[in-house]
Amino acid sequence: MTQIAFIGLGNMGSGMCANLAKAGYDVRAFDLNPDAVKKAEASGAKGAPSVADAVREADVVVSMLPAGKHVLSVYFGDDGVAAHAGPGKLFLDCSTISVEDAREAAGKAQAAGFPMVDAPVSGGTAAADAGTLTFMVGGPKEAFDKAKPFLDVMGKNVFHAGAAGNGQVAKIANNMLLGISMIGTCEAFNLAAKLGLDAQTFFDISSTASGQCWSMTSYCPAPGPVPTAPSNRDYQPGFAIAMMLKDLKLALASAQGADAETPLGQLAEEIYAKLDDDGHGGLDFSGVMKRLQGAL
Ligand code: NAD
Repeated sequence: MTQIAFIGLGNMGSGMCANLAKAGYDVRAFDLNPDAVKKAEASGAKGAPSVADAVREADVVVSMLPAGKHVLSVYFGDDGVAAHAGPGKLFLDCSTISVEDAREAAGKAQAAGFPMVDAPVSGGTAAADAGTLTFMVGGPKEAFDKAKPFLDVMGKNVFHAGAAGNGQVAKIANNMLLGISMIGTCEAFNLAAKLGLDAQTFFDISSTASGQCWSMTSYCPAPGPVPTAPSNRDYQPGFAIAMMLKDLKLALASAQGADAETPLGQLAEEIYAKLDDDGHGGLDFSGVMKRLQGAL
């Protein structure tokens, strides 16, 4: 039976790991947090006491870690994945990290003889639990083809974005657009309200006019028009401002390195950073609406 090592069993990784176990794979799960390992055991994986134990017999290593420094140290640090995995085994990192870190990791993996893909996701914890994530994958086509059956278990849409790091490029460019469009949508609903137009009426008009966008029709920041949106539960829980800020910082750092102009990305980063500094990092990113209303 195919054995999978899964490293990083947090908010996202726990559901992804559970779906691989549910699909019948022999999953060896490791996290620095023992409670996370216990939770993985309860969902059908076998707990591993270390990275080395998790990867030793594994055919593929999947990781879902906080940031680039964790990915580089888990894979290539002393006692890391590369030191203990079998020759030529597949590395599949799903964390959101910088393009530069992803390319560095892929280069190190290649030098050590391991195929590696970066496969960041779109979709939050609900999609991770339900196995309906979207994966954006960077890496050689042969590595993508090997990774795809595992990604299909954890996700609904799997895209090959091109060479190493291109999965992260797709992710940060998409999320920069999302961060900007959400602020614009908040401003439009706030302006309409201040000038006497209620949210539902504005939604009915704009969602069928040229202002239509995902931030409006799937995630409306004004309570009412989209019942499932976090705005209907006082912007909790959701896609946290702190997470959006992380993605914007990654986008801006890469933009600077590539000499790409991103003036609105910069402004969006400042707006979310101010909210985060003021202690609202846990609020859903559509909570910008509350700031515009003077409620924060
Ligand atoms: P999390 O903090 O809940 O989970 C990360 C896990 O990694 C933790 O359990 C932590 O203990 C573990 N970890 C850290 N260092 C480790 C190490 N050296 N060895 C083993 N385990 C280690 O984070 P999350 O919300 O699951 O996010 C994970 C990644 O997914 C991030 O890159 C994030 O940007 C991305 N992401 C998150 C969401 C979301 O909605 N939460 C959505 C899309 C993408």
